[in-house]
Amino acid sequence: MMTENLYSLLLPSDRSDDTRAALQTETGATWSYGDLRRTAGRIARLLHDSGVGPGDRVAVQVEKSPEALCLYLAVLQLGAVYLPLNTAYTLTERRYFLSDAEPAVFVGMPRAAGEVEAPVPSAGPPVTGRVLTLAPDGDGSLMAACRNLAPWDAVAGVAADDVAAILYTSGTTGRPKGAMITHGNLGYTVRTLTRLWGVTEGDVLLHGLPVFHAHGLFIAANTVLFARASMLFLPKFSVDRVIALLPRATLFMGVPTLYTRLLADPRLTPALCRSMRLFTCGSAPLSAETFARFEERTGHRILERYGMTETAIITTNALDGDRVPGTVGYPLPGLEVRVADEAGRPVAPGEVGGLELRGPNIFKGYWRMPEKTAAEFRPDGFFITGDLVSLAPDGRVSIVSRAKDLIISGGYNVYPREVESVLGGIAGVRDAVVIGVPHPDFGEGVMAVVERQPDCDALDGAEIIAQAARELAGYKLPKIVVIQDSLPRNAMGKVQKNELREQHKDAFKR
Ligand code: AMP
Repeated sequence: MMTENLYSLLLPSDRSDDTRAALQTETGATWSYGDLRRTAGRIARLLHDSGVGPGDRVAVQVEKSPEALCLYLAVLQLGAVYLPLNTAYTLTERRYFLSDAEPAVFVGMPRAAGEVEAPVPSAGPPVTGRVLTLAPDGDGSLMAACRNLAPWDAVAGVAADDVAAILYTSGTTGRPKGAMITHGNLGYTVRTLTRLWGVTEGDVLLHGLPVFHAHGLFIAANTVLFARASMLFLPKFSVDRVIALLPRATLFMGVPTLYTRLLADPRLTPALCRSMRLFTCGSAPLSAETFARFEERTGHRILERYGMTETAIITTNALDGDRVPGTVGYPLPGLEVRVADEAGRPVAPGEVGGLELRGPNIFKGYWRMPEKTAAEFRPDGFFITGDLVSLAPDGRVSIVSRAKDLIISGGYNVYPREVESVLGGIAGVRDAVVIGVPHPDFGEGVMAVVERQPDCDALDGAEIIAQAARELAGYKLPKIVVIQDSLPRNAMGKVQKNELREQHKDAFKR
């Protein structure tokens, strides 16, 4: 039977690559493609024996490890639905996800085993099947139960439209939504990126991202496996480890914070990066300043790309060709894009509008939320990303803002990114976010929260405003600048603007 199962792209049935190294861990252990296949097969047999079949959810909240990757592959192999959860989620948060997704099996961290066994079932009927545990070193009941099983070697036949994974994503309001990502979505993404970024079996990816997010799993790990390349699999990002391993790598995928942290280390030099072929960046805006500083320090122009949980990658700068700071490049081939107003009508060329998309990478909808799904698609099938962009005449995309981040102050539109990039260029500023908070006169008032460089105690809010005033119209200037040692960020390094809006909601009332 013809199958569109992503598993078959990542670990094809001819086994010709079984002896090739797929990943190396921090402890120096090497996992070949055959090792991944066998371990995934054992887990698949255990899950199958536990009653997991096509369409069943397997929820996973574990630290990154080779076994965790095998668990993902096993779930694909069975045609079941992989549901990774951020390791930072609390018990209360997890309860929501489990009761919403009703997984057949939940795999948690052993330290949480007590919590897992007890309160989860009492929170409703979430785990009807089995609860298993997996520690970063492979310990726990999952591997203990499958170690001696014969690997399952069938691959479930699935259609391109069958769901491979559910990734929860939180909007600015309301409950997190489970984005249903299909085998077809992921197959298209992995094939396209491998080609566009020229990933080959000679590549070695320094993998420092978490694997509960689309970036670390569907972009980074999938691409490596599809290309039969290999990865240095860091349990988590650490400047020291990245510096130590860069000379052995050819490829690095990061988020802007990882690049600013690397830049803060004097050991980052061209010599350190001599084996490197490509640095990519996404998940949050990369400032032109970080781009320029990175090029100065390493000789590499970071390739910025843009995507979201619901779509995986949408645009990318070119591997061969211009990588233009402040833009996210061109839409992936096969994607239809349009820039539209709130009613879905195309805006004039070059104008700012909402980006809407249709194509093979667009998710199937939100799990058990038909109204939310309907609200985010146009009747002709275009998905409303919620990002405000402008398109250059040659199709290059620049992100101006999240629609929800747009500030309307005294009737004027202020696009936070524009202000943030000016503030980011001021000496002593490591990062800056600009938010709109209630203002008695203007409706919303512009304020900035600035993260200072570690050695910059003298940074002054009034001085920052004075400097920004040289480049920005008055209505765009922050009226208040709060200076902090650090900004609240999520696991992908994305600043949590909601948190800052809530924290500062009374700033103009005082
Ligand atoms: P998430 O679903 O958590 O990955 O968040 C997706 C959102 O992150 C997008 O809708 C964008 O607003 C933002 N994003 C991702 N990549 C970039 C980028 N390269 N530049 C600017 N914003 C980005």
